[in-house]
Amino acid sequence: MTDCIFCKMVSGEIQPDKVMETEDVLAFRDLNPQAPTHILIIPKKHISTINDLTDEDVSVMGKLHLAAKEIAAQEGFSEPGYRTVMNCNADGGQAVYHIHLHLLGGRAMGWPPG
Ligand code: 5GP
Ligand code: ZN
Repeated sequence: MTDCIFCKMVSGEIQPDKVMETEDVLAFRDLNPQAPTHILIIPKKHISTINDLTDEDVSVMGKLHLAAKEIAAQEGFSEPGYRTVMNCNADGGQAVYHIHLHLLGGRAMGWPPG
């Protein structure tokens, strides 16, 4: 996807503040953090929304969560805890249409979310 900002990060056209990269997954710091640590974990494959997932994507969706677990340990908030969020479409608050798992940590989170 040539006009997708996250695909441009995957291709290297834009260089994010990267925290992890594997064959299938890229993780980088959010430009506008909503917690002391706010990291976005994306599949390298362009998938627009959760609604577009297919059976082919089952493995990479698991890998996003394994990356979250590893990064939480690296960042030092595994034990106090953290939040992962994936927004879908307008009512879910999705702004970038390349799916991404938000990893938020470093403070206590409220519930219910806004
Ligand atoms: P969404 O609302 O789609 O779930 O989340 C999109 C996230 O992407 C937001 O938290 C926003 O701050 C972040 N974001 C948007 N553009 C950029 C960018 O160019 N670089 C980085 N690092 N984060 C971005
Ligand atoms: Zn994309």
